[in-house]
Amino acid sequence: MTEVLIALGGNVGDVRQTFGRAIPTICGMAQAGLLARSSDYQTPAWGNEEQPPFINACILIDTDLDPHALLFSLHKVEKKFGRDRAKETHWGPRTLDLDILAYGDERIDQPGLTIPHPRLFERAFVLVPLAEIAPDRVIGSQTAREVLKNLSVEGISRLPDRN
Ligand code: ATP
Ligand code: CA
Ligand code: CA
Repeated sequence: MTEVLIALGGNVGDVRQTFGRAIPTICGMAQAGLLARSSDYQTPAWGNEEQPPFINACILIDTDLDPHALLFSLHKVEKKFGRDRAKETHWGPRTLDLDILAYGDERIDQPGLTIPHPRLFERAFVLVPLAEIAPDRVIGSQTAREVLKNLSVEGISRLPDRN
């Protein structure tokens, strides 16, 4: 089993409900155990600001799937929850985005898969939820807690738990 950190994001539809249903779907498809789940956060849109704010969260799972098989499964889950890559713009609105942040301590640099996720440490909207569940996990050579000391978290707010 390998511990894997996955970032969730979305800004179309009832994203919190999507997360609530997508997480067990991921665990089912990846024969994975859910080890931790962050709160949901509202975050300002990034890259293309002319769109509604996003909801972001982060989960830690353990799985036997290899990284490529896991990515394939995550793409299937995105699709199941309404994502249509053919119709979207770069960093534009989407129902569900699932990114592999870290896969154990592996480093992968291939055309369709880079691990650790290459933009992870530029993005407070990823690091804030990540820091809630794995503040001191060394990813590459850095930790969410350390990098967040030098990154603005303006506009990011933790959403109260939904029962
Ligand atoms: P960003 O990667 O900057 O967050 P994005 O999530 O909007 O952008 P997508 O359109 O969802 O980008 O994905 C583009 C491609 O990124 C996917 O088809 C996938 O092959 C590739 N990719 C590379 N590394 C990863 C990773 N660690 N996790 C998820 N997808 C990845
Ligand atoms: Ca992404
Ligand atoms: Ca993605």
